[in-house]
Amino acid sequence: MEEHAVTMDGESCQSTPHLVLVPFFAPGHMIPMVDIARLLAERGVLVSFITTPVNATRTRTAIERSQALGLPIRFVELPFPCAELGLPEGCESVDLVPSLDTGNKFFNGLSILREPLAAYLRQQCRPSCIISDMCHPWTQGLANEFGVPRLAFHATCCFSVLCHRNIRQYKVTDGFADEMESFVVPGLPHRVEITKDQVPFFEGSDLERYRNELIEADETSDGVVFDSFYELETLYIDSYQKATGKKAWAVGPVCFYNNLDVEDRAARGDKAAVDSRFYLSWLDSRKPGSVILISFGSLSHTPPSQIIEIGMGLEASGNPFILVIKANDQSQELEDWLLQGGFEERTKERSLVIRGWAPQLAILSHPAVGGFVSHCGWNSVLEAISVGVPMITWPLFADHFLIERLVVEVLRVGISIEVKRQVKWMVSGQFRKLVKREEVEAAVRALMDGGVEGQERRERARLLAETARRAAEVGGSSHENLTSLIRDVSLLRASVNDKGPEAT
Ligand code: UDP
Repeated sequence: MEEHAVTMDGESCQSTPHLVLVPFFAPGHMIPMVDIARLLAERGVLVSFITTPVNATRTRTAIERSQALGLPIRFVELPFPCAELGLPEGCESVDLVPSLDTGNKFFNGLSILREPLAAYLRQQCRPSCIISDMCHPWTQGLANEFGVPRLAFHATCCFSVLCHRNIRQYKVTDGFADEMESFVVPGLPHRVEITKDQVPFFEGSDLERYRNELIEADETSDGVVFDSFYELETLYIDSYQKATGKKAWAVGPVCFYNNLDVEDRAARGDKAAVDSRFYLSWLDSRKPGSVILISFGSLSHTPPSQIIEIGMGLEASGNPFILVIKANDQSQELEDWLLQGGFEERTKERSLVIRGWAPQLAILSHPAVGGFVSHCGWNSVLEAISVGVPMITWPLFADHFLIERLVVEVLRVGISIEVKRQVKWMVSGQFRKLVKREEVEAAVRALMDGGVEGQERRERARLLAETARRAAEVGGSSHENLTSLIRDVSLLRASVNDKGPEAT
């Protein structure tokens, strides 16, 4: 399809669906949205993918690969005026936010994009729909202004969205004096127990207003899109649709669709800090299912003392491993321990330390990998589920504790390292209690164990991966959901059109 289709007269424009994707600026939100953009474009939909200079640089490879394939995706780079928002220069993604105070400015300043995006949309034929990350509540007003439907994209599972919603609706934690008091999540078909501390709500913070806008925009959206698959979350997706009266399209795991090529996998999210020939040949030399990967996503800050305990636990376990130390977590103290302290030398026969951005999907999907220590970010968990790798769950903040319940108690493809309290996100030195090397060693041994329990867990993970693969194939539930999403947005737009745009 020719890109100039959008600038043709109204009739022609209407015959080609045009979806505007507004991702939130964090790797865990941006990555699945890039995949969704490519998926939609492969189905002939014209996509405007909204980004900013720093985020565009990170997704450059994906952009160039889409362009080389001739996919109808317009990457629309809007200015993000950091200085005007009181942010450090280039602070265009949550993982670059250095402190809580800056975080407040970042979240509260996102709506500055509304005007430039409106200006872009005024130059186009009216789009079919806006698919906005739920973290951009201001896009609801924009959708109303242009008279187009808005779907909310949740970069998490439906289980966690439903739990959050039910906890809020039933006001379960109102009046809880003790943050560590546990309660049963209401409205679920089975028992899930959690503490108030593990389900943060931004109460009493500068982000309370933002949170309320976010909830309101979510409630008024015309539907929701999840990177998940129906068979994984049948009960929760059905229950969510019933409770909200909205349609939920589960179109994942989106990591499957566009990342079959190892180069695509390696470039997902950012440029990898290691050469693919090096780590792939290292993995090729390991026994199938023998390696454990440790990676805590893109947003957390792990203090050197905790990374050292993790390293020592891994060393003591005797298991081959890949340890990812993200750029933000690198320090002189850690380098001294890795090099002068002899850790890398002692473990070099069976370990790989990656400093910086790891090609996570490429590693996880290698047959040598048999375990994953995850912070329970949804993308990481879904990637592990998609390739049948069981997990050690080490939740940190946000939705992680709920996702841990899903992995450990519902799907039973993981074991918990038993972290009880959330860390204060965006606050330095956030880990509240050190997990000791002995605990790490015990968890690794338990996960990689060849006994009956370990084998059963691996078998459950393998079956889930098969189901995930079928969901994404032609005729599978996610493939069908994407087809219906493309069809439904036209119907939705027609019904929104009947009401008319707020202003044209
Ligand atoms: N990721 C990666 N390399 C890294 C760190 C993260 O490719 O070194 C990817 C990971 O595969 C996942 C995303 O970044 O797709 C992180 O999202 P997730 O929801 O797991 O965690 P978050 O970063 O949002 O805490």
